Amino acid sequence: MGHEGEGVGRIQNFTVFVPHTVPGDKIKIKIVKVKKSYAYGKLIEIIHRAEHRIDPMCPIHKKCGGCQLQHLAYAEQLNFKKQKVIDNIERIGKLKNINVHDTIGMNKPLRYRNKVQFPVGRDEKHGQIQVGFYAPRSHNIIETDTCYIQHEINDKIIEQLKLWMKDYHITAYNESTGNGLVRHIFTRVAFKTGEIMVVLVTNGTNIPHKEQFIDRMRSVSDDVKSIIQNINTKATNVILGQKNRVLWGKDSIVDYIGDVKFSISPMSFYQVNPVQTEILYQKALEYAALKGDETVFDLYCGIGTISLFLARKAKKVVGVEIIPEAIEDARENARINDIYNVEFHVGAAEEVIPKLYQQGYKADVVVVDPPRKGCDETLLDTVVKMQVKKVIYVSCNPSTMARDLRL
Ligand code: SAH
Repeated sequence: MGHEGEGVGRIQNFTVFVPHTVPGDKIKIKIVKVKKSYAYGKLIEIIHRAEHRIDPMCPIHKKCGGCQLQHLAYAEQLNFKKQKVIDNIERIGKLKNINVHDTIGMNKPLRYRNKVQFPVGRDEKHGQIQVGFYAPRSHNIIETDTCYIQHEINDKIIEQLKLWMKDYHITAYNESTGNGLVRHIFTRVAFKTGEIMVVLVTNGTNIPHKEQFIDRMRSVSDDVKSIIQNINTKATNVILGQKNRVLWGKDSIVDYIGDVKFSISPMSFYQVNPVQTEILYQKALEYAALKGDETVFDLYCGIGTISLFLARKAKKVVGVEIIPEAIEDARENARINDIYNVEFHVGAAEEVIPKLYQQGYKADVVVVDPPRKGCDETLLDTVVKMQVKKVIYVSCNPSTMARDLRL
């Protein structure tokens, strides 16, 4: 399997990548693109089904760019991920004999995501409003009645959004012209408390028939506690703009991870799989093996989730995060949990940490949880200089993690 989850086959030593295929499949393909040393193929017919091939539950799994591994038995998906980590550590990290544990999966890997960001567009042919994920490597919206990895409440939110847009002739944003109002619908559901946040991302400030939008969203569920407008007028793939306006209700929602309570605002990062988040943070805590006299740095701390988990077992935790709103949430979260042995700094970890080090700060344990591009070299250099005893690297991208581990 390739790194994107596609099957990799050989035709007389020529490598061919074929999406939606599984090791062990015997298939008929059509070559769709040929490069110097490899080609891409399209699955035409399965002649022999691989042992681990399953029938995906989602009717649009091939068209939609959301999921890549639905045709693979879940246990094998977990093995695939483990193997990817091993490969990255060996090939990019150049490290040998590293013990990579089994992937810890979920009991039921369905309906687990707490956040969805659906693009909104208009079908040029029929003039209908479209909401759904993009097709792979494109900006064509693939409509969906229900997405099996999302909370079901989203189906109703989307239904009401479409009705509102239709009834009041609200325009959808068009990427090529830059015209049209509604760009994305972004929702978050706090699984523990049930609270729901709906964010309408608009190209412009004015929302015609705003009250009706609010009414329709509120009609979805009493758990809708926060309705927000995010304004994004830029020609960009970045979903959220800089400005938020509360249309109705609260400016944030509340959730729990374990028994720690969190206030989450629209701009802040929040882990998307609540069940696995708890397991992930428990692992970080287990690896930290804190005795109570340590100073811990939690870098790329977001709203302070890992910081507060660790704070209960450490002497002091210092969190660093680049988004100011997230740090505001983090401070609020410390306060609502009565946790006082934490301090939070706004800024890039690679700028803040060298400064704090100069001021005499030292850490016994460092946790990093960077975005996909990994850590900055300046930061890693400082961590090395500090002679930190233990570094826990939480990663969403094993290839940049492997690069950083090498360093
Ligand atoms: N540990 C948190 C957040 C992890 S996501 C959690 O589990 O919830 C990564 C976070 O890093 C995001 O909040 C992002 O805003 C932040 N970030 C991105 N670049 C950064 C940088 N250079 N320095 C500090 N934080 C950064």
